[in-house]
Amino acid sequence: MSAFDYDFFVIGAGSGGVRASRIAASLGARVGVAEERYFGGTCVNVGCVPKKLFSYAAHFADDFEDSRGFGWQASKPPFDWPTLIKNKDIEINRLNGIYKSLLEKAGVTIHECRARLLDAHTIDLGDQTVTADKILLAVGGWPWLPDIPGREHVLSSNEIFHLQQLPESILIQGGGYIAVEFASIFSRLGCETTLIYRGDRLLRGFDDDVRQFITVQFQHDVNLILNDDIKEINNNDKDLQVVLDSGNELEVETVMAATGRTPLTADLGLDKVSVELGSNDAIKVNEQFQTHEPSIYAVGDVIDRVALTPVALAEGEFVARSLFSKEKHRPMDYRNIATAVFCHPNIATVGLTEAEALAAGHKLDIYQATSKPLKHTLSGRDEPAFIKLVVDQDSDKVLGVHIVSQDAGELVQGFAVALNCGATKADFDRTIGIHPTLAEEVVTMRSKREVNS
Ligand code: NDP
Repeated sequence: MSAFDYDFFVIGAGSGGVRASRIAASLGARVGVAEERYFGGTCVNVGCVPKKLFSYAAHFADDFEDSRGFGWQASKPPFDWPTLIKNKDIEINRLNGIYKSLLEKAGVTIHECRARLLDAHTIDLGDQTVTADKILLAVGGWPWLPDIPGREHVLSSNEIFHLQQLPESILIQGGGYIAVEFASIFSRLGCETTLIYRGDRLLRGFDDDVRQFITVQFQHDVNLILNDDIKEINNNDKDLQVVLDSGNELEVETVMAATGRTPLTADLGLDKVSVELGSNDAIKVNEQFQTHEPSIYAVGDVIDRVALTPVALAEGEFVARSLFSKEKHRPMDYRNIATAVFCHPNIATVGLTEAEALAAGHKLDIYQATSKPLKHTLSGRDEPAFIKLVVDQDSDKVLGVHIVSQDAGELVQGFAVALNCGATKADFDRTIGIHPTLAEEVVTMRSKREVNS
């Protein structure tokens, strides 16, 4: 019997922490978890899940409009925001309960309190102190807001999920995942939406052609302000008066910043151990997710590698299996992680962008097409789809698949499997398509375009 209270103590019951705890417990470890806020972490409570529910709500706006071309005569019904919030809260509460009971059923001891490290094996839980052989930090991240005059008037994604009323107008700052997703949501729900981004094309890090395409699309849907930023915000009782760097001014009801997230490393007792922090205060870990303090591990948004739920799940599982399973386990593989931005239309991508492939020294063939989805021949909606394949000229391997279309998030997962299997363009070509779908166009791309220099 170990001298420690627990074999494994996990701080944070979000995606990575819950997965690690359950796997470790199933492998026979005595596991404790501390969670001070909500079970399921950002994803379940103020991230992926409620955002996707909002996105579904927003889609109905398009569907009601699109239906007219198909013969439906009804006018658009009114939208009731409080109903959406109430139903969303019921679902999130249900999921909180499921996460908690999953831990309980796995035999994990739950501590609903703040946890702070006292040393490499000891954790302060407020009313008690416990010890553990191994500790996992899975505390996640938190929205980061620029420090500007009037910052106190700015909401983050945390608060936006709990607005009592739908604002009449909103200004969203940022050009990343959260900003574009919420711009799509609010604009469709009937809120006058302005998106302000300091760059010239949205979604830095995505393929340049995708960025160009979606930036043009967004110009139809929202008031898009590029190459400018918020300088200060004043509350004039009725509205918020927003002064921009350019000197222009806007009056809006609500301002939301979606300007990135920062690892939640403060007040964790890290000063008591030799855990090291890197850029953006992320916890530094090695390939085994071990920090500089050998008994302490970290996964998920707090290590700030790839801030996506499925990545945190995989990292958490990796740590639990590598610590408590005798079987050989797969190393963590960060290549070909598919991702989707749930704006309207979706952007989904797997593998390398054209710029990344060129920088890695590949000679490339690029296949690219814009097409009108069949649905929009009758709906009349001006929303083309975009597909791009990045192919290595020497090996014929498909290095990247980039799609902008309705439901692209559902489409790209299968292509991620193909890329992980090393599929070539010839493999795509010999695959018979499903007609009529957008997916078939991904396997029927014939004409190359010139490679960007
Ligand atoms: P992102 O890092 O994606 O985007 C942050 C945006 O804020 C960028 O456009 C950035 O501009 C801009 N920005 C940063 N600092 C400032 C500043 N001082 N003034 C003005 N603009 C600024 O962060 P998000 O908050 O959107 O999302 C955080 C992470 O959460 C994502 O990266 C993603 O990993 C995850 N996520 C995933 C989702 C999904 O899978 N669908 C959905 C939502 C979030 P610039 O580009 O110039 O740096």
